[in-house]
Amino acid sequence: MGLIQASRGTRDILPDEVVYWQQVETAARQILGRAAYREIRTPIFEQTSLFERGIGEATDIVGKEMYTFVDRGERSLTLRPEGTAGAVRAFIEHKLHTQGGVQRLWYTGAMFRYERPQAGRQRQFHQLGVEVLGSADPRADAEVIAIATDLLQTLGLKDCTLSLNSVGNPSDRQHYREALVAYFQPYQTQLDSDSQERLYRNPLRILDSKDPRTQEICQTAPSILDYLGPESQSHFQRVQQYLTDLGIAYQLNPCLVRGLDYYTHTAFEFQTENLGAQATVCGGGRYDGLVQELGGPETPAVGWAIGLERLILLLQQQAQVFSTQLDFYVVARGEVAEAQALCLAQKLRQQGFAIELDLSGSAFGKQLKRADRSGAPACLIIGDAEAEAKTVQLKWLKSGQQQVISQADLLTQTEALRQQLITVS
Ligand code: ATP
Ligand code: MG
Repeated sequence: MGLIQASRGTRDILPDEVVYWQQVETAARQILGRAAYREIRTPIFEQTSLFERGIGEATDIVGKEMYTFVDRGERSLTLRPEGTAGAVRAFIEHKLHTQGGVQRLWYTGAMFRYERPQAGRQRQFHQLGVEVLGSADPRADAEVIAIATDLLQTLGLKDCTLSLNSVGNPSDRQHYREALVAYFQPYQTQLDSDSQERLYRNPLRILDSKDPRTQEICQTAPSILDYLGPESQSHFQRVQQYLTDLGIAYQLNPCLVRGLDYYTHTAFEFQTENLGAQATVCGGGRYDGLVQELGGPETPAVGWAIGLERLILLLQQQAQVFSTQLDFYVVARGEVAEAQALCLAQKLRQQGFAIELDLSGSAFGKQLKRADRSGAPACLIIGDAEAEAKTVQLKWLKSGQQQVISQADLLTQTEALRQQLITVS
């Protein structure tokens, strides 16, 4: 029997990489917390109809990417392909609107889409997203964009550009749709097959095609920006003005669209050129019609989702180094010494120090080599003599400087120790 491997399109995130994930999560928690966003955790599977209604049957996600199954009670369930539908369902189900004001929510977790796996494109992947429910104000659009910008910048992400568009409201789009169909009709046979299918069903999505010939045809297609009514124009103008006030650079991209009726006004993406075809790190926009579509009260909303695999690939590419920092590496040899080292390590941890205890029982030379590689600035050494005297050798690994200190003193002089650790690092 062959070895069982992780399923196609899924991957293990090993400890060296998890450090990056933790860094991203920590930065996100901090930045979102400061902006009064609260975390929400919704189930990994939902009724299939939630996504059919919430994402739309005409989309790639619902049309061909969902992990849908029938459970033992004959219910059709689907592993969530994205986070917004679940968050909005929870918002409606728990009547969060009755708490008054604006609900600022964020989430993170695994999402599932049946796609062709490539770098930055998996079948199980992770998103971190925000949803602001209950505000139609263009400041909400600017706020969520500013928060994404802040997060990406705080993590040190470089070469990321913000593309911005407005898809107007459903009535603007009705006129635009007609103009698009009229424009594409003469090219019908030259469009890729997906786009041909979308021509009458969902022509806006053609603008989103990755096919080179279709993209070429799109170059001279009518622009949605010429079809925005006064209300939509004013909203879009204000979003742009706020971004300028915030010092956030953006590029207008009239091809950036979302094809469904409940998407309104702002659409945006943060893109990079360093991930091949998987260019979008973060995508978002306004969806004023979704809450109602899912049976809730009329609630304007705006949000985004970051693809965490893509973000982390970029951070790794940039050789952004994140690692966990040890304070002491503890080395011991001999039965009594090893028992003392175990207890000393545990007591130091309880004082707040990060300690790795060498469990190998090998010769001091080998243990000390591992201490050097551990990244800890200092090493605590207990041999027979130290065990007898209840002391420890404290060795600073960079300078090689060594001192003897009693184990009891080590545990009481923690402030001095902390100071020394800061000085050497
Ligand atoms: P794409 O055009 O790349 O398929 P999308 O429009 O399907 O993206 P969204 O549904 O807007 O993506 O999801 C938001 C973000 O989640 C994307 O910008 C991307 O960073 C990430 N993402 C989407 N699908 C995947 C996937 N299969 N694997 C990894 N990340 C993904
Ligand atoms: Mg996709």
